[in-house]
Amino acid sequence: MSAATPLLQVSNLGKSFGGVKAVDGITFDLAAGELLALIGPNGAGKSTTFNMVNGQLKADQGSIRLAGTELVGQRPRDIWRLGVGRTFQIAETFSSLTVVENVQMALISHDRKLFSMWKPAAGHKRDEALALLEQVGMKAQADRPCSVLAYGDVKRVELAIAMANSPKLLLMDEPTAGMAPKERNSLMALTKQLVVDRGLAVLFTEHSMDVVFAYADRMIVLARGRLIAQGKPLEIRDHPKVQEVYFGTGKTFEKAAA
Ligand code: ADP
Ligand code: MG
Repeated sequence: MSAATPLLQVSNLGKSFGGVKAVDGITFDLAAGELLALIGPNGAGKSTTFNMVNGQLKADQGSIRLAGTELVGQRPRDIWRLGVGRTFQIAETFSSLTVVENVQMALISHDRKLFSMWKPAAGHKRDEALALLEQVGMKAQADRPCSVLAYGDVKRVELAIAMANSPKLLLMDEPTAGMAPKERNSLMALTKQLVVDRGLAVLFTEHSMDVVFAYADRMIVLARGRLIAQGKPLEIRDHPKVQEVYFGTGKTFEKAAA
């Protein structure tokens, strides 16, 4: 792989459910250190695309290469090992653990030790976990149970957990869903920081156009499984096809996003 090769290369990717082409031959790239927004109306194929990249769904056609390695046909766990991370919602069962214990657990899982062998009381990986929590601004709350955290803070912990695997590519499907505008901005600013500091590549979906325009380096737009536009946020804002698909006639991007 040459230095100019993008980290992620998606080519002619497709998936059907019954007769419905949920994703219909899409092609795009994503470079290290780039924050790429995937937008489109409900049912456009965004989640299906994510789930093919992380291996939860097997593509019917096309190719997904990470640093030159084909991901189509690989198991989710192997794709995760190759460096594709995603944010998970902290499961109910883990919300009784403290913040730092949740991150320790993720670090240990990354080391491929058996979860069943780990005891939460152990100090194992605590320093490393605290360092990750510091990066997401959650070190001061390390010893609180996750169950008592504010929603925006839970999202920060989820990001620290995803980073425990040192991913090259992080997938975030609607990371700011249910968040107030201030929390949204704070989470995306943090994500942007990780992209810049670590050369992380991020692919995310987002409903708030304010967030997309403020943070995305580049955007791709899906409609009914097809990629209808890609470019920098300002190019996309003025793209006639995007205006049409999203808003019909006469509406601006901003009005429709409100
Ligand atoms: P988005 O995330 O952009 O809202 P999805 O990728 O979830 O869109 O869905 C794309 C299309 O595929 C929709 O028409 C949806 O109903 C369909 N679809 C998604 N997942 C499944 C599934 N597991 N079984 C059947 N149809 C599905
Ligand atoms: Mg979706």
